Amino acid sequence: MIGNNSVCVEKWQEGEEKTMICRIVTIPGDGIGPEIVGEACKVLDKVGQIYGHEFHYTEILMGGCSIDTYGVPLTDEALETARKADAVLLGAVGGDVGNSRWYDVAPNLRPEAGLLAIRKGLNLFANIRPAYLYKELAQACPLKKEIIGDGFDMVIMRELTGGLYFGERCTEKIDGVMTAKDTLTYNENEIRRIAVKAFDIAMKRKKKVISVDKANVLDSSRLWRQVVEEVAGDYPEVELSHMLVDNCAMQLVMNPGQFDVILTENMFGDILSDEASMITGSIGMLSSASLNETKFGLYEPSHGSAPDIAGKDLANPIATILSAAMMLRYSFDLDREAAAVEKAVQKVLEEGYRTGDIYGEGCMKVGTAQMGDLICARCI
Ligand code: NAD
Repeated sequence: MIGNNSVCVEKWQEGEEKTMICRIVTIPGDGIGPEIVGEACKVLDKVGQIYGHEFHYTEILMGGCSIDTYGVPLTDEALETARKADAVLLGAVGGDVGNSRWYDVAPNLRPEAGLLAIRKGLNLFANIRPAYLYKELAQACPLKKEIIGDGFDMVIMRELTGGLYFGERCTEKIDGVMTAKDTLTYNENEIRRIAVKAFDIAMKRKKKVISVDKANVLDSSRLWRQVVEEVAGDYPEVELSHMLVDNCAMQLVMNPGQFDVILTENMFGDILSDEASMITGSIGMLSSASLNETKFGLYEPSHGSAPDIAGKDLANPIATILSAAMMLRYSFDLDREAAAVEKAVQKVLEEGYRTGDIYGEGCMKVGTAQMGDLICARCI
């Protein structure tokens, strides 16, 4: 049995293929959210059919649709439902910020407050964002061909609930001068648990962790480095090296192929993961996962709710479908099934099918639902 509440069960007997029953909470959210989550569930069902797993879905409201129904972006009941699942699949929340009634209220009542509440409420401290360059989409990468080389395939493991964004802060007048202060605090337990996640994930990949810090200046980074070294002792197969954050920002655009797993604290991860996603060139392709100490995770595309194209069958569902593949791998330990989804995506791109956001000359333009169908048909 795995999962937060042991509801995701394995049902298999000696000599039989392992099959699973998994409870997934879906949060379609706003804008394109319902369309892309629908396609991801379609792909999960296809995987279930082929490999004999059962995925049971419970839908909850979050974001603008929850505000419209309950007056708040996330109710306690919805959070409780999410907590009882094995994993959560999220589309996106929010509307047109300059032109929506959802934003005429205090920040804690806006759609995006639901995101913060669910991350906090489920203690999702580990954020994983892969940055993978598909050779078929290489023309969208802003880097030169000689830098791209054979492409890149990295994940950024960002600490999500500590550091500068959660430290004490204040703005006050000191000796007549306005002064603002933010504090960057990490304790060894917070560092250890994210480092363990990074090493666990490296074990499923190329077994290489680069820990990024600013240990030449910051105390918190020196403790970070020390604890990461300790954790590395439990993973003799994984190669660990350290890199200063300013160097890492340069290396990402000079030699992105050198990275496998980048492990870093909250603010450095915020900046580096955006940089890494930009060099893939296609926001509709980028998946992400946020995990807690168990195998429980929340999986979502890196993009927002794209209200400009909502309901038009124009959204690229691939980021959400790849997020569902991450769910199979990280929450359910179904590596073979995750790889089947990833290969199906690869195949569809190789065959030249594209949604509008990644469309190029000579390709075949398809809508959201057709892209989902094409991927399903290639899941084997
Ligand atoms: P966005 O990511 O929604 O859209 C940026 C641009 O990319 C738009 O032109 C959009 O059409 C396009 N785009 C995004 N995803 C796409 C997809 N899957 N397929 C094709 N095109 C896609 O960012 P934004 O416009 O800054 O924000 C819109 C709303 O989303 C806001 O309310 C914002 O607060 C919210 N948001 C939510 C999340 C989340 O739920 N995790 C994250 C970011 C932004």
